[in-house]
Amino acid sequence: MPVENQTVVLPQDQSVPDSRPLKVGFVSLGCPKNLVDSEVMMGMLQSGGAQITARAEEADVIVVNTCSFIDTAKQESVDTILEMARHKISGRAKKLVVAGCLVERYRNEIQKNIPQVDAVVGTGELEAILAAAGITSAPSPADLNSPFVILNTASASQSLKSGVRSRPEGELRQANGRFSRAEWDGAIADLPNYLYNENTPRVLATPRASAYIKIAEGCDHPCGFCIIPQLRGKFRSRHFESVIAEAERLAANGVREVTLIGQDTTCYGEDLGLKDGLALLLERLAQIENLRWVRFLYAYPNKITGRLLETIAAHEKICSYIDVPLQHASDSVLKRMKRGAGAEIFLKSMEKMRRTIPDLTLRTSFIVGFPGETEQDFDQLCQFVKAAQFDWLGVFSYSDEEGSAAWHLENKVPPREIERRGKKLMQIQRHISKKNKARLVGKHLDVLALGPSEETDLLWEGRAEMHAPEIDGKLFINDFGGHDELVPGTFYRCEITEAHDYDLVAKTI
Ligand code: SF4
Repeated sequence: MPVENQTVVLPQDQSVPDSRPLKVGFVSLGCPKNLVDSEVMMGMLQSGGAQITARAEEADVIVVNTCSFIDTAKQESVDTILEMARHKISGRAKKLVVAGCLVERYRNEIQKNIPQVDAVVGTGELEAILAAAGITSAPSPADLNSPFVILNTASASQSLKSGVRSRPEGELRQANGRFSRAEWDGAIADLPNYLYNENTPRVLATPRASAYIKIAEGCDHPCGFCIIPQLRGKFRSRHFESVIAEAERLAANGVREVTLIGQDTTCYGEDLGLKDGLALLLERLAQIENLRWVRFLYAYPNKITGRLLETIAAHEKICSYIDVPLQHASDSVLKRMKRGAGAEIFLKSMEKMRRTIPDLTLRTSFIVGFPGETEQDFDQLCQFVKAAQFDWLGVFSYSDEEGSAAWHLENKVPPREIERRGKKLMQIQRHISKKNKARLVGKHLDVLALGPSEETDLLWEGRAEMHAPEIDGKLFINDFGGHDELVPGTFYRCEITEAHDYDLVAKTI
């Protein structure tokens, strides 16, 4: 376990002038999985004696935890690094550290092109944040992790290579070069294989009463547009009891809503020899007394089993919510994406989901403009969206990523056409969403109050079971009923009074 009373030591020319603790500021970009990595790094730093600050201008060390999933995310990461570098040039910051997916991809380039960057920390070496921040007399990596953890060491890599904790698909895909970074200049050869555990210190950055739990890391799927497997490594699950222990501790500390995350949570446990691992995990989590809502993100289409659906339906605490990114509906596009299936199979599987879980909220996301996507393919996607009537839908414009299989495909769709298709698909969904949300007016729902809205203090924001944190439309509370004030992190019974395209307005009852 991390130790208290750590001495903070900085190199001589960068020492903190007084005996106050080292202050570290964090900017976390990208998805919730990256946020959990940030929370773990903040926990390690705090255990090493540092103080975490939300104000970049008062930080001695600034860490930018980056995303490099697609071009726009890379640009945002670079812009943020440059913005934070200003605090080092003209402010108080002595060190700038870049962590996360951008490091896995452009390790050498970052330090070569942005000289203000003092250190980089990849996704598989989170303990290195201590040395990067200048904390030299720190807990050892072994102390920071319990026996469950796989550290980024030769022996751990060995155990993955020898198949001790790998899915056969992962082994096969590795042999076929799925995880190769050969085309990436500067990327280190070792794939990340880090996993945190219930004993790893973590500073929660989510609102009171809510927390993410990463149950798995990495991905073995072959999706042609995606470089996440190269960035995050092969699929690996956290140990079952480690997840339960973390959830129990979070619940004991006031967390009521837990969101399980991973690139593909529906594969959970396959590398541990578990069948229906996610369903088993949900069943156990549903028994934790103080938890109120448990949900998981994301499901892989052909991994949603009958047992999983029955488990969701059987437990009130398991949110009737499935986010299954389908990516497309045209058979030929899906085949070229290396995903398979198609509209007909998806519609059948959705019918089964809705039949088993009658009040199900269904979310998906699509990519428009994949190389070779014809007008006919796109039309098929539009027809599918109309037929499927998703509750929530996200559309991504295809981003051509070097190192992905799709990078080598011909017939790239022009950017303006990609934009047009994206807008058209969202327009279709807006009509569907508006109609579905209007049906909710007058309904009574449990709402988790989050706090005053960023737009105005007169409104509060909340979440119902149908809203995954930070992803779906918003729910505003504009009438507190008999309450003088609301308490963040508390559940209130609310009536929906207004519905917009995506957002809802409610009053407490
Ligand atoms: S399932 Fe496909 S899209 Fe999702 S992380 Fe894995 S490879 Fe990428």
